[in-house]
Amino acid sequence: MARKFFVGGNWKCNGTSEEVKKIVSVLNGGQVPSPDVVEVVVSPPFVFLPEVKNSLRPEFHVAAQNCWVKKGGAYTGEVSAEMLHNLGIPWVILGHSERRAILGETNEFVGEKVVYALSQGLKVIACVGETLEQRESGSTMEVVAAQTKAIAEKIKDWSNVVIAYEPVWAIGTGKVASPAQAQEVHNELRKWLAANVSPEVAASTRIIYGGSVNGANCKELAGQPDIDGFLVGGASLKPEFIDIIKSAE
Ligand code: PEP
Repeated sequence: MARKFFVGGNWKCNGTSEEVKKIVSVLNGGQVPSPDVVEVVVSPPFVFLPEVKNSLRPEFHVAAQNCWVKKGGAYTGEVSAEMLHNLGIPWVILGHSERRAILGETNEFVGEKVVYALSQGLKVIACVGETLEQRESGSTMEVVAAQTKAIAEKIKDWSNVVIAYEPVWAIGTGKVASPAQAQEVHNELRKWLAANVSPEVAASTRIIYGGSVNGANCKELAGQPDIDGFLVGGASLKPEFIDIIKSAE
């Protein structure tokens, strides 16, 4: 089954309203492949979501960077999936390694968030990935499988889920996984989905790579058979994000 290339831009906790306007104007002016070829989703901080959604070219979509694990209410500082849906925000990133590491989000908690967000009509970019220590000790696949299992055992419908494989050692470090390293994990992850969910879900679910992707390294990564796109941090704030979108062709 054909998997449409997917490019996500994670702006993290960056930007002033002036900077956001500049990024949007670069995105709006960029020559990119048609939406039949590539799906583009950018993820500004919560406070800029409505503005970006309303000013961005219509074929590009927006994602929140997080949402609360259940229905909103007395959870000071949180933003619920219902609120995002109410504002017409179609996507949410869940389980980013920065939230797992800094805010202590466990596999189970991320799994619950994914289920709840999907139940409220959001589409989910679910992040998984190993630390350097885990890679060096040979447990990459075990870690990534456990993170994926915590989601897989709670959901049935994968049509609104994209998996982002983001090795923690490659995020924001400039140390990109080699195309062979990334392909190996993507392929293992797809085999894991085939064996533990279904061959159909394995064939249709997009597995995107994240970790120091830039305009120079994207083309070779995009050429790997099991890499279905990217989740981009630092470079998504720069004009080279357009080049990364173009790597879909
Ligand atoms: C990310 O934060 O999801 C990411 C991949 O960051 P960077 O591209 O900066 O490594």
